Amino acid sequence: MTRSPDWIDHGSRHIWLPYTQMKTAAPPLPVVRTSGTRIELADGRSLVDGIASWWTACHGYNHPHIAEAIRAQLEVMPHVMFGGLTHEPALLLAQRLAALLGPGLDRVFFTESGSVAVEVAMKMAMQYWLNRGEPGRSRFLVFKGSYHGDTFGTMAVCDPDDGMHAVFKGLLATHDVAALPVDEASMAALDAHLAQHAGQLAGILVEPLVQGAGGMLLHSPVVLQRLRTLADRYGMLLIFDEIFTGFGRTGSLFAFEQAGIRPDIITLSKALTGGTLPLAATVASQRVFDAFLSDDPGHALMHGPTFMGNALACAAAHASLDLFEQEPRLAQAAAIGATLREGLAALAGLPWVKDVRTLGAIGVVELTRINDMNRLKQRLIDQGVWVRPFGRIVYLTPALTIGPEDLQRLIQAVNAVVAAGAP
Ligand SMILES: *Cc1c(COP(=O)(O)O)cnc(C)c1O
Repeated sequence: MTRSPDWIDHGSRHIWLPYTQMKTAAPPLPVVRTSGTRIELADGRSLVDGIASWWTACHGYNHPHIAEAIRAQLEVMPHVMFGGLTHEPALLLAQRLAALLGPGLDRVFFTESGSVAVEVAMKMAMQYWLNRGEPGRSRFLVFKGSYHGDTFGTMAVCDPDDGMHAVFKGLLATHDVAALPVDEASMAALDAHLAQHAGQLAGILVEPLVQGAGGMLLHSPVVLQRLRTLADRYGMLLIFDEIFTGFGRTGSLFAFEQAGIRPDIITLSKALTGGTLPLAATVASQRVFDAFLSDDPGHALMHGPTFMGNALACAAAHASLDLFEQEPRLAQAAAIGATLREGLAALAGLPWVKDVRTLGAIGVVELTRINDMNRLKQRLIDQGVWVRPFGRIVYLTPALTIGPEDLQRLIQAVNAVVAAGAP
């Protein structure tokens, strides 16, 4: 191993890391380069990336087509404010996203992070009712196991007990938290709740098919059909947070396609630029948009992040969408899923493994508990892979472009580490 470069020692004294107990956590791995599905560390090691940098790098790292698009846009115009000005990359990206999402998801509002996209969705839904003269509809129906972001608005729509923001319980806005309608009984309970409370609710907010950061919990498309039925029955807006599931991760371009129903508002981010630049979008139906059209300036959507519609990020998103058009990403997702299903199946028999599940290009091993998280993480790194277990799960969400050898490396590493004994 080579000696650590100075920037690690010098900078580490001043950095504050995400989701990290800075007193006890192992130091982060210094990365000097990426390419394809590899992360190269400062000491020369190369890790196979099992999670595509929080599910963003769907085409692998450093894809030349995206790099070239960003470079070309940089020469012309990196960014202009979006208040009063607009530009081709943003307008054409809005048109392109609306076409991909299909009828009923028509108006695109750009932001720069997933949490803010969800905040905007919540603001749209609440103001939709205000503008229509129904001021009492200020809460949301959300679900156990949900995760929608880290800002104060979105922390309040995460699972209040098992979510990662439980420390703020009592300090956040309160919303209605229900079990997903996975069967007739939970559907009836939810129906009864809405019969009583729909008049105070602005909308139903859910991560379709997979509750990601809440523990990679899967549910069937039928659940989404039930939510559409309830939203229609009680005149509520249905909001799908596809920040994790969007762009092929669940096997279809968007998760909602598998349910044959459509939300009224959808949020997108994570893989939108192929893991290169921050960009998010909140896309609403024409019906939602129309409620903001008025002679009253107070009916306008008062939101506008400084970097919204960033031209470099829009160019990257166009290039990423080109790749979805030109290369067989959905077939690749299906093939990864089949390989993960087969490769992880043997772990299901172990007493300390609670469940093994897959969907699209997602493979999850749920343990009964993780005794020593730092040790588990280190053992995965020692196997030459970058996999980041959390809660009780070890999961794989590799780039959709991952080759068979790197995919096998990931599967073997997870097998070796989980099969060796209760981690
Ligand atoms: C990551 C994520 C968010 C938050 O996105 P950020 O860009 O981290 O703010 C919201 N919802 C879901 C489903 C996510 O996976």
